[in-house]
Amino acid sequence: MQPITDIIPLLKAPRTVVIVMHQKPDADAMGSSLGLYHVLSALGHTVTVISPTNWADWLGWMPGADRVIDYELNSAKSNDLLAAADWIFCLDFNILHRTRKMSEPIGKAAGIRILIDHHQQPQKEVFTYGISDTSKSSTCEMVFDFIESAGLGDKINLSVAACLYAGVMTDTGSFRFSSCSASVHRMAAVLKDTGLDHSKIHENLFDNFLENRLRFIGHALLNRMEVLYEFNTALITIPWKDLVKYQIRTGDTEGLVNYPLSIQGIKFAALIIDRDEEIKCSFRSKEGFDVNQFARNYFEGGGHKNAAGGRSSESLEQTTQRFRASLKENALQLQ
Ligand code: 5GP
Ligand code: MN
Repeated sequence: MQPITDIIPLLKAPRTVVIVMHQKPDADAMGSSLGLYHVLSALGHTVTVISPTNWADWLGWMPGADRVIDYELNSAKSNDLLAAADWIFCLDFNILHRTRKMSEPIGKAAGIRILIDHHQQPQKEVFTYGISDTSKSSTCEMVFDFIESAGLGDKINLSVAACLYAGVMTDTGSFRFSSCSASVHRMAAVLKDTGLDHSKIHENLFDNFLENRLRFIGHALLNRMEVLYEFNTALITIPWKDLVKYQIRTGDTEGLVNYPLSIQGIKFAALIIDRDEEIKCSFRSKEGFDVNQFARNYFEGGGHKNAAGGRSSESLEQTTQRFRASLKENALQLQ
């Protein structure tokens, strides 16, 4: 993988570009993709953004979100776009299988693959150009750095600023996590200088749910959470029937895994959800416990040191049993 800065001189000639992100995109994946989309479009490139799956309704306000293609709904058209692309930018994921059914057409495409990502252990051999930096707060910060290093700071208009702010703000836990460096605050200042209404973005992202989602969170915390003090761990287990009963939609469970970390002494929080098609796991930690490694070891996953995810093809009961057994194996690290 050659440094991403090597493509800067090539940006001058118009290309056909596809930008892809990970499945079930969050604000960082969607925001970085759309931020880059606006800048490359302004330079005269022909750009399409494709998401491997649908996304949460509360990302729909992002400028350009209405033009994003859902691969699952338009796979034939998306495959044609991928096959015809000169460049395929891969944003906010480290391994092709994070794009689910898109992974094969992306892998086979003749165009050049370019990575911009902050997850651990990227599949570098798949990309011609790219940057992988796990010290970065968000892919939005990396897209911002890329735009600035290409001397394209003047292309950061209100639309770009709104997209990039949404991703950097959410991936830093509202500027809270240790990944939120001084450069992140400097970036926020540059975005703010475009006239950005940051309060509106927080509102769009955090005050934009239906009543049933809040009732579901109440139910999950009251009835589905176990606190395992001997391991400084809390586990929330959600059966499929709860998702049906509360009419849970894509994005509604985001953030739920963070609540248990607010309990004194809890260093590790896990959320295991039966999504019917598979069991999805989310892990968060404080201090030293490495959930990226944990997700890799036990749940075919990965992510960051303090935020990772994975999956299981066993039943919900078998998965939680395996989770409990894994806690015993990690008892020392969890003290
Ligand atoms: P979440 O728990 O919000 O789904 O994901 C937390 C972090 O872990 C995100 O950065 C996400 O990209 C990553 N992640 C989630 N699920 C998986 C997975 O199945 N495999 C890998 N490699 N990373 C994941
Ligand atoms: Mn991210």
